Amino acid sequence: MQLCFYADALEALTGRVPSEMHLWLGSGVSESLRVEEFRPYWRRLRRQLATLLDQDDITETRPEPCTHCDYCEFNPLCDAQWRNEDSLVYVANIRTPERHALEREGVRTVVELSTRAGSVPELHDENLERLVRQAALQVTSREHPEEAPVYELVVPSEDPVFGHGFELLPAPDNGDVFFDFEGHPFWSAQNDLFFLSGLRYRDDVGEWCYDARWAHDLDAQALMVKELVEFFAERRTTFPNMHVYHYNHTERSSLERLTREPRLRASLVRSPRPGSSWTSTWLPKTRFRWAPSHTA
Ligand code: SF4
Repeated sequence: MQLCFYADALEALTGRVPSEMHLWLGSGVSESLRVEEFRPYWRRLRRQLATLLDQDDITETRPEPCTHCDYCEFNPLCDAQWRNEDSLVYVANIRTPERHALEREGVRTVVELSTRAGSVPELHDENLERLVRQAALQVTSREHPEEAPVYELVVPSEDPVFGHGFELLPAPDNGDVFFDFEGHPFWSAQNDLFFLSGLRYRDDVGEWCYDARWAHDLDAQALMVKELVEFFAERRTTFPNMHVYHYNHTERSSLERLTREPRLRASLVRSPRPGSSWTSTWLPKTRFRWAPSHTA
């Protein structure tokens, strides 16, 4: 969009539409883009915005959470509005369609949800009950901020996500490993860097230990990844039923990506692929219902 704006500005100044715009990227690489290839997109956006602004019946606008919110510069404004409105977006684990169904019924705040008695069209009673209980816990906790957050155990049910809790976890194994990567996405213009892998597992005498492995440049990262793959493969040999628990997909996908890099691939020729040496799973957040809230 910035390029589109600059192209318009150049045309206004010179009377001619520039044929190309050039980007000099942080990596040092220069890219040339033909203006007519991206200008229609700009024209459509401007047309849509003009149509929207021409409507007379817009009396208010409301922020709607999306995946961009965490990076958006308007986040403090939207967050303040949601907080002031006591918005349902802060009910932990509420799904967007559930929130919309509640709002259509006039349930627009966490307090209103916490005391909701009747059913809500488009919402299963079991889901509504879960959300009402969640909202009630949050309201109770914020009324007593000096006390520890209140919580309750989730009653097992047929709900595929919220009805099983720890049952969704595989049986514990002495070889289980808890694994986390810490990285810097802009370590250099061309490369990210995983500078720390943290591992927690039972050591040779069965005691839990913390194993921190640091890398301060790409060579050290390659060595760290190689040793990680070897560690998982060796441990899998000793504990065939082990699992590797990790926060999200990043640990697994990054490890696989890094093992494909040339500086590492040659040294891993005789090592098993990481995908075959570990099993990942996720820790269900559904066994406890507790008070702190999150954005939807
Ligand atoms: S923070 Fe607000 S403006 Fe930014 S994407 Fe989220 S809802 Fe939209």
